[in-house]
Amino acid sequence: MLTTRPRGTNDFLPQETEKWQLIEKILREICEEFDYHEIRIPIFEHTELFQRGVGETTDIVEKEMYTFMDRGKRSITLRPEGTASTARAYLEHKMSALPQPVKLYYMGPMFRYERPQAGRYRQFHQFGVEVFGSSDPGVDAEVIALAMAFYQRLGLTGLEVRLNSVGCPKCRPAHRQALQQFLKQDLEQLCPDCQGRYDRNPLRILDCKNPQCQKITAGAPTILHSLCPECVDHFAAVKEYLGMAGIQYQVDERLVRGLDYYTKTAFEVVVQEIGAQSAICGGGRYDGLMESLGGPPTPGVGFALGMERIFPTLATQGIELNPEKMLDVYLVAMEEEGQKKAFQLLMDLRKMGIKAEKDYMNRSMKAQMKAANRFQVKYVLIIGADELAKGTVMIRNMETSEQKEMMVADTLNFIEKAVK
Ligand code: AMP
Repeated sequence: MLTTRPRGTNDFLPQETEKWQLIEKILREICEEFDYHEIRIPIFEHTELFQRGVGETTDIVEKEMYTFMDRGKRSITLRPEGTASTARAYLEHKMSALPQPVKLYYMGPMFRYERPQAGRYRQFHQFGVEVFGSSDPGVDAEVIALAMAFYQRLGLTGLEVRLNSVGCPKCRPAHRQALQQFLKQDLEQLCPDCQGRYDRNPLRILDCKNPQCQKITAGAPTILHSLCPECVDHFAAVKEYLGMAGIQYQVDERLVRGLDYYTKTAFEVVVQEIGAQSAICGGGRYDGLMESLGGPPTPGVGFALGMERIFPTLATQGIELNPEKMLDVYLVAMEEEGQKKAFQLLMDLRKMGIKAEKDYMNRSMKAQMKAANRFQVKYVLIIGADELAKGTVMIRNMETSEQKEMMVADTLNFIEKAVK
């Protein structure tokens, strides 16, 4: 159907886009304050990047990727997330030669073939940060602080930070064994997905949303109790730094990130009020990622937050985003001659950096005044029959309803001073 967009995608009309731009502006400001720098990664990559960098056993790779052969018979995938590409770019551009850590951020569309519902789309947008090159637990706390600073600047309250450690390749095998041992007798009662995970990725069974699986795993050993001394220390330090940053968190021993490359810190920010899709941000440390891409061991930590989910969160908390008013000046003019004068003024105003607009529909004076009201401008410049005859412009201050008549050249000076 040519008049319907594909399932799971959205059009953002100008009014909404202005809110997105405001959010993007706040994100950029915060990144500047935190010394994070923007990277722009491709919308598509070689499929193998995500198979290796996201992990073969993840839902994303198993069933959610938009993968196709291009005309050169290469397997291409629309990016389902940003971490793998960012890590690939770090390796490709030898960013390890830069002063470490390298602190990056990105924002843009991601693609996953999911079942669309409120807050879950097939094309959605993420803002994410990645810090490469440092295993300092202070960085784990810093990225969480960055996410929370953003939500706070929007005015959101009552967000929960859930925190866990998923260990490292040293401590995970023992836990994996203990977990498999625990689940063994109930293996057949688990959902088909979890039965598949039992051998490949049993940690993820703890994360399953199926009530039957949750019942079975209720008393299962969690990784937090099998951490090696290094992971224990790291977790303790992250918690200490979070305390110093004034960030409250809850340890959630069952929090497991869906991706294979995560080590140590895993976290999520959730907001209860928005229903099923309550996770608004997720991230953690992924010290194993670079090696899984064939690079040298390089620690990394980051998160991605869902941009679409910000809006229902704001709405439930009664927060209205007020993007700056669009226009400073609206020009109202009569007759062809007046319209031409208005056009000249319009161009002169814009050269001065003033946001201005005029009528292009040959509307009546009354309809043009109505349009000026709709734009909520502070000043309306009127060139009616009287003004045309005298070569003047009537300046109307829409807030005070005061009017002043001026010559054209004075009008420009007056508006420049008044607006800037
Ligand atoms: P993930 O990359 O799966 O860790 O997701 C990080 C964040 O992106 C989540 O917390 C959500 O806020 C958002 N997100 C993930 N998948 C979707 C989706 N299909 N639609 C909208 N937002 C999403």
